[in-house]
Amino acid sequence: MKIIEKDALSIAGLIKGREISALEVTRVFLERIDKVEKKVKAYINVAAELALSRAKEVDMELADGVEAGVFGGVPIAVKDVLTTRGFPTTCGSKMLEGFVPVYDATVVERIGRAGTVMLGKANMDEFAMGSSTENSYFGPTMNPWDLERVPGGSSGGSAAAVAAGEAPWALGSDTGGSIRQPAALCGIVGLKPTYGLVSRYGLVAFASSLDQVGPMTRTVRDCAALLGVIAGYDPMDSTSIPGELPDYVGALTGEVKGLKAGVVRELSSEGIDTGVRERFGETVSLLEKLGVACEEVSLPSFAHGLSAYYIIAPAEASSNLARFDGVRYGYRAPGESEDVWEMYDRTRAEGFGGEVKRRIMLGTYALSAGYYDAYYAQAQKIRTLIVRDFGRAWDEYDVLVSPTSPSTAFKLGEKVDDPLTMYLSDICTIPVNLAGIPALSLPCGLSDGLPVGFQVMGPPLEEPKVLNVAYALEQAIGFDARPEL
Ligand code: GLN
Repeated sequence: MKIIEKDALSIAGLIKGREISALEVTRVFLERIDKVEKKVKAYINVAAELALSRAKEVDMELADGVEAGVFGGVPIAVKDVLTTRGFPTTCGSKMLEGFVPVYDATVVERIGRAGTVMLGKANMDEFAMGSSTENSYFGPTMNPWDLERVPGGSSGGSAAAVAAGEAPWALGSDTGGSIRQPAALCGIVGLKPTYGLVSRYGLVAFASSLDQVGPMTRTVRDCAALLGVIAGYDPMDSTSIPGELPDYVGALTGEVKGLKAGVVRELSSEGIDTGVRERFGETVSLLEKLGVACEEVSLPSFAHGLSAYYIIAPAEASSNLARFDGVRYGYRAPGESEDVWEMYDRTRAEGFGGEVKRRIMLGTYALSAGYYDAYYAQAQKIRTLIVRDFGRAWDEYDVLVSPTSPSTAFKLGEKVDDPLTMYLSDICTIPVNLAGIPALSLPCGLSDGLPVGFQVMGPPLEEPKVLNVAYALEQAIGFDARPEL
Protein backbone atom coordinates (compact mmCIF):
# COMPACT_ATOMS: atom_id res chain seq x y z
CA MET A 1 0.00 0.00 0.00
CA LYS A 2 1.32 3.43 -0.92
CA ILE A 3 1.96 6.00 1.82
CA ILE A 4 -0.87 8.24 0.58
CA GLU A 5 -3.31 5.35 1.03
CA LYS A 6 -2.32 4.60 4.60
CA ASP A 7 -4.15 5.78 7.68
CA ALA A 8 -2.49 8.25 10.03
CA LEU A 9 -1.70 5.75 12.81
CA SER A 10 0.14 3.47 10.37
CA ILE A 11 2.18 6.43 9.10
CA ALA A 12 2.99 7.39 12.70
CA GLY A 13 4.21 3.82 13.29
CA LEU A 14 6.47 3.87 10.22
CA ILE A 15 8.06 7.15 11.30
CA LYS A 16 8.54 5.98 14.89
CA GLY A 17 10.11 2.74 13.63
CA ARG A 18 12.50 4.83 11.49
CA GLU A 19 11.23 3.06 8.38
CA ILE A 20 10.58 6.39 6.72
CA SER A 21 11.50 9.93 7.72
CA ALA A 22 8.99 12.67 8.48
CA LEU A 23 10.52 14.65 5.62
CA GLU A 24 9.93 11.85 3.11
CA VAL A 25 6.31 11.50 4.25
CA THR A 26 5.70 15.24 3.90
CA ARG A 27 7.30 15.23 0.44
CA VAL A 28 5.09 12.35 -0.69
CA PHE A 29 1.94 14.24 0.34
CA LEU A 30 3.14 17.54 -1.17
CA GLU A 31 3.80 15.69 -4.45
CA ARG A 32 0.31 14.20 -4.32
CA ILE A 33 -1.13 17.68 -3.73
CA ASP A 34 0.86 18.96 -6.70
CA LYS A 35 -0.51 16.16 -8.84
CA VAL A 36 -4.23 16.25 -8.06
CA GLU A 37 -4.93 19.69 -6.62
CA LYS A 38 -5.71 21.19 -10.04
CA LYS A 39 -8.64 18.78 -10.27
CA VAL A 40 -9.81 18.64 -6.64
CA LYS A 41 -9.00 22.10 -5.21
CA ALA A 42 -9.19 20.92 -1.61
CA TYR A 43 -6.88 23.61 -0.23
CA ILE A 44 -7.11 27.40 -0.07
CA ASN A 45 -3.45 27.71 0.94
CA VAL A 46 -0.84 24.94 0.88
CA ALA A 47 1.84 25.39 3.57
CA ALA A 48 4.61 23.60 1.64
CA GLU A 49 7.65 25.39 3.09
CA LEU A 50 6.29 25.44 6.62
CA ALA A 51 5.49 21.72 6.38
CA LEU A 52 8.96 20.80 5.08
CA SER A 53 10.75 22.74 7.81
CA ARG A 54 8.46 21.30 10.50
CA ALA A 55 9.12 17.78 9.17
CA LYS A 56 12.88 18.41 9.31
CA GLU A 57 12.52 19.51 12.93
CA VAL A 58 10.68 16.31 13.76
CA ASP A 59 13.41 14.23 12.08
CA MET A 60 16.07 16.08 14.07
CA GLU A 61 14.20 15.45 17.31
CA LEU A 62 13.91 11.77 16.43
CA ALA A 63 17.63 11.59 15.60
CA ASP A 64 18.35 13.08 19.03
CA GLY A 65 16.19 10.40 20.61
CA VAL A 66 13.61 12.98 21.68
CA GLU A 67 9.93 11.94 21.70
CA ALA A 68 8.59 14.04 18.77
CA GLY A 69 4.98 13.94 19.97
CA VAL A 70 2.57 10.99 19.69
CA PHE A 71 2.04 11.69 16.00
CA GLY A 72 5.48 13.07 15.20
CA GLY A 73 5.78 13.79 11.48
CA VAL A 74 2.23 12.81 10.50
CA PRO A 75 0.79 15.35 8.03
CA ILE A 76 -2.64 16.91 8.54
CA ALA A 77 -5.00 19.32 6.74
CA VAL A 78 -6.75 22.05 8.76
CA LYS A 79 -10.06 23.65 7.79
CA ASP A 80 -9.49 27.34 7.11
CA VAL A 81 -11.92 28.30 9.88
CA LEU A 82 -9.20 27.73 12.52
CA THR A 83 -6.61 30.41 13.26
CA THR A 84 -2.99 29.57 12.49
CA ARG A 85 -0.32 31.91 13.83
CA GLY A 86 1.67 33.49 11.01
CA PHE A 87 -0.27 31.63 8.29
CA PRO A 88 -3.30 33.04 6.40
CA THR A 89 -6.78 32.19 7.72
CA THR A 90 -9.54 33.19 5.30
CA CYS A 91 -12.69 31.31 6.38
CA GLY A 92 -13.40 31.02 2.66
CA SER A 93 -14.24 34.73 2.57
CA LYS A 94 -13.03 37.80 0.75
CA MET A 95 -13.55 39.51 4.13
CA LEU A 96 -10.51 37.70 5.55
CA GLU A 97 -8.40 37.41 2.39
CA GLY A 98 -4.79 38.00 3.44
CA PHE A 99 -5.63 37.96 7.17
CA VAL A 100 -2.74 36.50 9.18
CA PRO A 101 -3.67 35.62 12.78
CA VAL A 102 -1.34 36.37 15.69
CA TYR A 103 -2.31 33.24 17.61
CA ASP A 104 -3.04 29.55 17.06
CA ALA A 105 -6.44 28.06 17.81
CA THR A 106 -6.18 25.74 20.82
CA VAL A 107 -6.76 22.68 18.59
CA VAL A 108 -4.03 23.85 16.20
CA GLU A 109 -1.64 24.24 19.12
CA ARG A 110 -2.57 20.75 20.33
CA ILE A 111 -2.04 19.01 16.99
CA GLY A 112 1.28 20.87 16.78
CA ARG A 113 2.32 19.63 20.21
CA ALA A 114 1.42 16.09 19.09
CA GLY A 115 4.06 16.51 16.37
CA THR A 116 1.75 16.66 13.32
CA VAL A 117 2.81 18.60 10.25
CA MET A 118 0.19 20.97 8.83
CA LEU A 119 0.06 20.64 5.03
CA GLY A 120 -2.25 23.59 4.51
CA LYS A 121 -5.63 25.21 5.09
CA ALA A 122 -8.59 23.38 3.58
CA ASN A 123 -11.35 24.98 1.51
CA MET A 124 -14.81 25.60 2.98
CA ASP A 125 -18.09 27.39 2.44
CA GLU A 126 -17.72 31.05 3.42
CA PHE A 127 -17.86 31.30 7.24
CA ALA A 128 -18.95 27.62 7.25
CA MET A 129 -22.35 28.44 5.76
CA GLY A 130 -23.28 25.82 3.20
CA SER A 131 -23.45 22.13 2.37
CA SER A 132 -21.42 21.95 -0.85
CA THR A 133 -18.29 24.16 -0.51
CA GLU A 134 -19.65 26.12 -3.48
CA ASN A 135 -20.00 29.20 -1.24
CA SER A 136 -16.22 29.59 -0.95
CA TYR A 137 -14.93 32.93 -2.24
CA PHE A 138 -11.96 30.97 -3.61
CA GLY A 139 -14.10 28.67 -5.80
CA PRO A 140 -15.56 25.21 -5.15
CA THR A 141 -13.84 21.95 -4.22
CA MET A 142 -14.57 18.92 -6.38
CA ASN A 143 -15.58 15.48 -5.04
CA PRO A 144 -12.68 13.05 -5.69
CA TRP A 145 -15.23 10.28 -6.50
CA ASP A 146 -16.68 12.33 -9.35
CA LEU A 147 -15.17 15.68 -10.22
CA GLU A 148 -18.50 17.00 -11.47
CA ARG A 149 -20.00 16.60 -8.02
CA VAL A 150 -19.71 18.52 -4.75
CA PRO A 151 -17.75 17.13 -1.78
CA GLY A 152 -20.44 18.34 0.63
CA GLY A 153 -19.85 21.14 3.06
CA SER A 154 -18.95 23.23 4.74
CA SER A 155 -15.79 21.18 5.52
CA GLY A 156 -15.67 19.97 1.89
CA GLY A 157 -11.97 20.80 1.47
CA SER A 158 -10.99 18.71 4.51
CA ALA A 159 -13.13 15.76 3.34
CA ALA A 160 -11.89 15.89 -0.26
CA ALA A 161 -8.24 16.18 0.87
CA VAL A 162 -8.53 12.98 2.91
CA ALA A 163 -10.49 11.11 0.22
CA ALA A 164 -8.03 12.15 -2.51
CA GLY A 165 -4.93 11.16 -0.52
CA GLU A 166 -3.87 14.80 -0.15
CA ALA A 167 -3.73 14.33 3.65
CA PRO A 168 -4.08 11.25 5.85
CA TRP A 169 -6.51 13.09 8.15
CA ALA A 170 -7.95 16.54 8.73
CA LEU A 171 -9.76 18.86 11.12
CA GLY A 172 -13.22 20.15 10.28
CA SER A 173 -15.95 22.03 12.11
CA ASP A 174 -19.62 21.15 12.47
CA THR A 175 -22.43 23.60 13.28
CA GLY A 176 -25.29 21.73 11.58
CA GLY A 177 -23.56 18.83 9.85
CA SER A 178 -20.43 20.29 8.29
CA ILE A 179 -18.13 17.45 9.38
CA ARG A 180 -20.52 14.52 8.96
CA GLN A 181 -22.23 15.42 5.67
CA PRO A 182 -18.99 15.99 3.68
CA ALA A 183 -17.49 12.88 5.35
CA ALA A 184 -20.51 10.93 4.06
CA LEU A 185 -20.31 12.36 0.54
CA CYS A 186 -16.54 11.68 0.30
CA GLY A 187 -16.53 8.20 1.87
CA ILE A 188 -14.54 8.98 5.03
CA VAL A 189 -15.14 8.99 8.81
CA GLY A 190 -16.17 12.25 10.53
CA LEU A 191 -17.03 12.94 14.16
CA LYS A 192 -18.84 15.88 15.72
CA PRO A 193 -17.90 15.70 19.41
CA THR A 194 -20.09 16.64 22.39
CA TYR A 195 -20.51 20.41 22.65
CA GLY A 196 -17.77 21.67 24.98
CA LEU A 197 -15.47 18.65 24.63
CA VAL A 198 -13.21 20.38 22.08
CA SER A 199 -12.10 23.99 22.53
CA ARG A 200 -13.57 26.65 20.25
CA TYR A 201 -10.79 29.12 21.03
CA GLY A 202 -9.47 30.29 17.66
CA LEU A 203 -12.39 28.76 15.74
CA VAL A 204 -13.95 31.62 13.76
CA ALA A 205 -17.47 31.77 15.21
CA PHE A 206 -20.54 31.00 13.08
CA ALA A 207 -23.20 29.95 15.65
CA SER A 208 -21.40 29.72 18.98
CA SER A 209 -23.95 27.50 20.76
CA LEU A 210 -23.66 24.88 17.98
CA ASP A 211 -20.07 25.02 16.65
CA GLN A 212 -17.67 22.14 17.39
CA VAL A 213 -14.31 21.13 15.90
CA GLY A 214 -13.78 17.46 15.10
CA PRO A 215 -11.69 14.81 13.29
CA MET A 216 -12.13 13.76 9.65
CA THR A 217 -10.23 10.55 8.97
CA ARG A 218 -9.95 7.37 6.92
CA THR A 219 -10.62 5.01 9.82
CA VAL A 220 -12.49 4.99 13.12
CA ARG A 221 -9.23 4.27 14.95
CA ASP A 222 -7.64 7.44 13.50
CA CYS A 223 -10.79 9.32 14.47
CA ALA A 224 -10.48 8.17 18.09
CA ALA A 225 -6.77 9.00 18.14
CA LEU A 226 -7.22 12.52 16.76
CA LEU A 227 -10.08 13.18 19.16
CA GLY A 228 -7.73 12.25 22.00
CA VAL A 229 -5.31 14.93 20.77
CA ILE A 230 -7.79 17.80 20.39
CA ALA A 231 -10.28 17.13 23.22
CA GLY A 232 -10.01 18.40 26.76
CA TYR A 233 -10.53 21.40 28.99
CA ASP A 234 -9.34 24.80 27.79
CA PRO A 235 -9.58 27.82 30.10
CA MET A 236 -9.73 30.03 26.97
CA ASP A 237 -13.20 28.69 26.08
CA SER A 238 -15.91 29.43 28.66
CA THR A 239 -18.03 26.50 27.38
CA SER A 240 -15.17 23.99 27.70
CA ILE A 241 -15.94 20.94 29.86
CA PRO A 242 -13.47 20.21 32.69
CA GLY A 243 -12.47 16.69 33.69
CA GLU A 244 -10.36 13.68 32.78
CA LEU A 245 -10.57 12.28 29.27
CA PRO A 246 -11.28 8.61 28.56
CA ASP A 247 -8.93 6.54 26.38
CA TYR A 248 -10.75 6.80 23.05
CA VAL A 249 -8.52 4.35 21.17
CA GLY A 250 -8.60 1.92 24.09
CA ALA A 251 -12.42 1.94 23.92
CA LEU A 252 -12.33 0.27 20.49
CA THR A 253 -12.91 -3.32 21.54
CA GLY A 254 -15.37 -4.15 18.77
CA GLU A 255 -17.52 -5.80 21.43
CA VAL A 256 -21.09 -4.48 21.00
CA LYS A 257 -23.22 -7.51 21.81
CA GLY A 258 -26.19 -6.67 24.03
CA LEU A 259 -26.36 -2.97 23.11
CA LYS A 260 -29.62 -1.40 21.95
CA ALA A 261 -29.89 0.93 18.96
CA GLY A 262 -32.85 3.11 18.00
CA VAL A 263 -33.45 3.70 14.28
CA VAL A 264 -34.84 7.24 14.12
CA ARG A 265 -37.97 7.13 11.98
CA GLU A 266 -38.03 10.89 11.31
CA LEU A 267 -34.48 10.74 9.88
CA SER A 268 -34.56 7.54 7.88
CA SER A 269 -37.68 7.25 5.80
CA GLU A 270 -39.33 10.18 4.03
CA GLY A 271 -37.13 12.28 1.74
CA ILE A 272 -34.20 9.84 1.80
CA ASP A 273 -33.00 8.65 -1.63
CA THR A 274 -33.57 4.98 -2.46
CA GLY A 275 -29.88 4.10 -2.79
CA VAL A 276 -29.10 5.68 0.59
CA ARG A 277 -32.04 3.90 2.18
CA GLU A 278 -30.87 0.54 0.82
CA ARG A 279 -27.31 0.88 2.16
CA PHE A 280 -28.71 2.15 5.45
CA GLY A 281 -31.07 -0.83 5.80
CA GLU A 282 -28.25 -3.30 5.07
CA THR A 283 -26.06 -1.64 7.69
CA VAL A 284 -28.80 -1.85 10.32
CA SER A 285 -29.05 -5.59 9.53
CA LEU A 286 -25.28 -5.91 10.01
CA LEU A 287 -25.59 -4.17 13.36
CA GLU A 288 -28.19 -6.74 14.36
CA LYS A 289 -25.85 -9.56 13.27
CA LEU A 290 -23.24 -8.06 15.59
CA GLY A 291 -25.66 -8.57 18.45
CA VAL A 292 -27.12 -5.07 18.71
CA ALA A 293 -30.89 -5.02 19.17
CA CYS A 294 -32.27 -2.50 16.66
CA GLU A 295 -35.80 -1.12 16.65
CA GLU A 296 -37.52 1.89 15.18
CA VAL A 297 -38.06 4.88 17.45
CA SER A 298 -40.06 8.02 16.76
CA LEU A 299 -38.66 11.37 17.96
CA PRO A 300 -41.45 13.70 16.82
CA SER A 301 -39.77 17.05 17.54
CA PHE A 302 -37.11 16.24 14.93
CA ALA A 303 -39.59 17.20 12.22
CA HIS A 304 -38.99 20.83 13.28
CA GLY A 305 -35.20 20.63 13.70
CA LEU A 306 -34.33 22.21 10.38
CA SER A 307 -36.72 25.16 10.90
CA ALA A 308 -35.39 25.83 14.39
CA TYR A 309 -31.79 25.61 13.19
CA TYR A 310 -32.38 28.14 10.39
CA ILE A 311 -33.56 30.66 12.99
CA ILE A 312 -30.98 29.98 15.74
CA ALA A 313 -27.87 29.63 13.56
CA PRO A 314 -28.50 32.82 11.51
CA ALA A 315 -29.45 34.72 14.71
CA GLU A 316 -26.12 33.87 16.31
CA ALA A 317 -24.28 34.48 13.02
CA SER A 318 -25.80 37.95 12.66
CA SER A 319 -24.28 38.83 16.02
CA ASN A 320 -20.94 37.04 15.52
CA LEU A 321 -20.29 38.51 12.09
CA ALA A 322 -20.79 42.09 13.29
CA ARG A 323 -17.07 42.10 14.12
CA PHE A 324 -16.21 42.19 10.41
CA ASP A 325 -16.54 45.93 10.06
CA GLY A 326 -13.54 46.97 7.98
CA VAL A 327 -11.76 48.23 11.09
CA ARG A 328 -10.63 45.28 13.18
CA TYR A 329 -10.17 42.47 10.68
CA GLY A 330 -9.33 41.87 7.07
CA TYR A 331 -11.05 43.61 4.22
CA ARG A 332 -12.01 47.29 4.03
CA ALA A 333 -13.68 48.73 0.91
CA PRO A 334 -11.13 50.87 -0.87
CA GLY A 335 -11.65 54.58 -1.60
CA GLU A 336 -13.17 57.41 0.41
CA SER A 337 -16.45 57.05 2.29
CA GLU A 338 -18.74 59.90 3.40
CA ASP A 339 -18.73 58.66 6.99
CA VAL A 340 -18.04 55.52 9.02
CA TRP A 341 -21.52 54.08 8.30
CA GLU A 342 -20.93 54.22 4.57
CA MET A 343 -17.54 52.55 5.09
CA TYR A 344 -19.24 49.72 7.04
CA ASP A 345 -21.90 49.36 4.35
CA ARG A 346 -19.51 49.21 1.45
CA THR A 347 -17.10 46.90 3.26
CA ARG A 348 -19.83 44.40 4.07
CA ALA A 349 -21.52 44.66 0.68
CA GLU A 350 -18.20 43.89 -1.05
CA GLY A 351 -16.60 41.60 1.56
CA PHE A 352 -19.42 39.11 2.22
CA GLY A 353 -20.85 36.66 -0.32
CA GLY A 354 -24.55 36.14 -1.05
CA GLU A 355 -25.26 33.28 1.39
CA VAL A 356 -23.53 35.07 4.29
CA LYS A 357 -25.60 38.21 3.65
CA ARG A 358 -28.76 36.12 3.51
CA ARG A 359 -27.96 34.60 6.92
CA ILE A 360 -27.14 37.98 8.49
CA MET A 361 -30.44 39.40 7.25
CA LEU A 362 -32.44 36.34 8.38
CA GLY A 363 -30.82 36.46 11.80
CA THR A 364 -31.21 40.20 12.29
CA TYR A 365 -34.86 39.92 11.32
CA ALA A 366 -35.52 36.99 13.67
CA LEU A 367 -33.96 38.89 16.58
CA SER A 368 -35.66 42.23 15.93
CA ALA A 369 -38.13 43.66 18.45
CA GLY A 370 -41.62 42.42 17.62
CA TYR A 371 -40.39 39.28 15.86
CA TYR A 372 -38.15 37.88 18.56
CA ASP A 373 -40.94 35.97 20.33
CA ALA A 374 -42.49 34.72 17.12
CA TYR A 375 -39.23 33.31 15.73
CA TYR A 376 -36.24 33.14 18.05
CA ALA A 377 -38.15 32.22 21.23
CA GLN A 378 -40.18 29.57 19.34
CA ALA A 379 -37.02 28.08 17.87
CA GLN A 380 -35.46 27.85 21.33
CA LYS A 381 -38.55 26.00 22.56
CA ILE A 382 -38.18 23.48 19.74
CA ARG A 383 -34.55 23.11 20.71
CA THR A 384 -35.64 22.18 24.23
CA LEU A 385 -38.12 19.62 22.85
CA ILE A 386 -35.36 18.05 20.77
CA VAL A 387 -33.08 17.84 23.83
CA ARG A 388 -35.93 16.13 25.72
CA ASP A 389 -36.69 13.69 22.89
CA PHE A 390 -33.04 12.64 22.88
CA GLY A 391 -33.05 12.44 26.69
CA ARG A 392 -36.00 10.04 26.61
CA ALA A 393 -34.33 7.95 23.93
CA TRP A 394 -31.20 7.50 26.07
CA ASP A 395 -33.35 5.84 28.74
CA GLU A 396 -34.07 3.10 26.18
CA TYR A 397 -31.15 3.02 23.76
CA ASP A 398 -27.35 3.09 23.86
CA VAL A 399 -27.10 4.74 20.46
CA LEU A 400 -29.39 6.11 17.77
CA VAL A 401 -28.75 5.62 14.06
CA SER A 402 -29.84 7.21 10.77
CA PRO A 403 -28.42 7.97 7.34
CA THR A 404 -26.01 10.94 7.51
CA SER A 405 -27.27 12.67 4.38
CA PRO A 406 -30.52 12.18 2.44
CA SER A 407 -28.59 11.84 -0.83
CA THR A 408 -25.15 10.99 -2.17
CA ALA A 409 -22.95 13.72 -3.67
CA PHE A 410 -24.98 15.97 -5.97
CA LYS A 411 -23.80 17.80 -9.09
CA LEU A 412 -21.99 21.14 -8.81
CA GLY A 413 -24.48 23.92 -9.48
CA GLU A 414 -27.50 21.66 -8.89
CA LYS A 415 -28.68 23.27 -5.64
CA VAL A 416 -26.64 26.44 -5.34
CA ASP A 417 -29.43 28.73 -6.54
CA ASP A 418 -32.06 27.07 -4.38
CA PRO A 419 -31.18 27.69 -0.71
CA LEU A 420 -34.14 25.74 0.71
CA THR A 421 -33.19 22.56 -1.17
CA MET A 422 -29.58 23.05 -0.10
CA TYR A 423 -30.67 23.45 3.53
CA LEU A 424 -32.38 20.02 3.35
CA SER A 425 -28.93 18.40 2.99
CA ASP A 426 -28.56 18.71 6.77
CA ILE A 427 -31.93 17.33 7.78
CA CYS A 428 -30.36 14.24 9.44
CA THR A 429 -27.45 15.99 11.15
CA ILE A 430 -28.99 19.15 12.65
CA PRO A 431 -30.85 17.68 15.69
CA VAL A 432 -27.47 16.49 17.01
CA ASN A 433 -26.06 20.02 17.06
CA LEU A 434 -29.20 21.46 18.65
CA ALA A 435 -28.82 18.93 21.49
CA GLY A 436 -25.03 19.19 21.75
CA ILE A 437 -24.49 15.41 21.58
CA PRO A 438 -21.77 13.42 19.74
CA ALA A 439 -22.38 11.81 16.34
CA LEU A 440 -20.18 10.08 13.81
CA SER A 441 -20.56 9.37 10.10
CA LEU A 442 -19.11 6.13 8.76
CA PRO A 443 -18.91 5.03 5.10
CA CYS A 444 -21.34 2.11 4.67
CA GLY A 445 -21.09 1.35 0.96
CA LEU A 446 -21.70 2.86 -2.46
CA SER A 447 -24.80 3.83 -4.37
CA ASP A 448 -24.22 4.28 -8.12
CA GLY A 449 -20.50 4.49 -7.40
CA LEU A 450 -20.86 7.22 -4.76
CA PRO A 451 -20.28 6.81 -1.01
CA VAL A 452 -23.15 6.60 1.50
CA GLY A 453 -22.76 7.66 5.16
CA PHE A 454 -24.20 5.95 8.25
CA GLN A 455 -24.73 8.14 11.33
CA VAL A 456 -24.24 6.88 14.90
CA MET A 457 -25.44 9.25 17.65
CA GLY A 458 -24.83 8.87 21.39
CA PRO A 459 -25.55 10.55 24.73
CA PRO A 460 -23.39 13.51 25.84
CA LEU A 461 -19.72 12.55 26.38
CA GLU A 462 -20.36 8.96 25.26
CA GLU A 463 -17.83 9.28 22.42
CA PRO A 464 -16.20 5.97 23.49
CA LYS A 465 -19.48 4.12 22.89
CA VAL A 466 -20.22 5.90 19.58
CA LEU A 467 -16.68 5.21 18.35
CA ASN A 468 -16.82 1.56 19.42
CA VAL A 469 -20.14 0.90 17.66
CA ALA A 470 -18.71 2.57 14.55
CA TYR A 471 -15.53 0.51 14.89
CA ALA A 472 -17.43 -2.77 15.10
CA LEU A 473 -19.48 -1.79 12.04
CA GLU A 474 -16.40 -0.63 10.13
CA GLN A 475 -14.79 -4.08 10.61
CA ALA A 476 -18.02 -5.81 9.53
CA ILE A 477 -18.60 -3.59 6.47
CA GLY A 478 -15.00 -3.71 5.23
CA PHE A 479 -15.46 -0.59 3.07
CA ASP A 480 -12.26 -0.35 1.04
CA ALA A 481 -13.36 1.41 -2.14
CA ARG A 482 -11.21 4.35 -3.24
CA PRO A 483 -11.85 7.13 -5.70
CA GLU A 484 -9.72 6.91 -8.85
CA LEU A 485 -7.91 10.12 -9.65
N1 GLN B 1 -24.97 23.31 6.04
C1 GLN B 1 -25.33 23.91 7.30
C2 GLN B 1 -25.40 25.40 7.16
O1 GLN B 1 -25.26 25.85 6.08
C3 GLN B 1 -24.34 23.51 8.36
C4 GLN B 1 -23.09 24.27 8.31
C5 GLN B 1 -22.10 23.86 9.33
O2 GLN B 1 -22.26 22.85 10.00
N2 GLN B 1 -21.09 24.69 9.50
O3 GLN B 1 -25.58 26.13 8.08
